[in-house]
Amino acid sequence: MPLRLVPPAKPSPKQAVIERIKKAPRPDGMIQCARCGGRTLMTTVNGAFVKNGRKQGGTVIEKDVCYHCHQLGIRSLMLPELKPV
Ligand SMILES: [Zn+2]
Repeated sequence: MPLRLVPPAKPSPKQAVIERIKKAPRPDGMIQCARCGGRTLMTTVNGAFVKNGRKQGGTVIEKDVCYHCHQLGIRSLMLPELKPV
């Protein structure tokens, strides 16, 4: 059976909205989720203390993860993980 190219499917209404949001103009350098287009990022810290009225210490569990994707159980990094060479 010969292989044939399949034209891309028309996006669902939800996917069309996501694509429109992702293409919306934004200030230069603003961080945006590549998956859902959200602009809310979060960092979670475990085991922090309050000392002299200030938050101190703790272990960073998740850093710069999309908040909206995290609510759906998806871990979507909004910044690339740059590791030293
Ligand atoms: Zn997202």
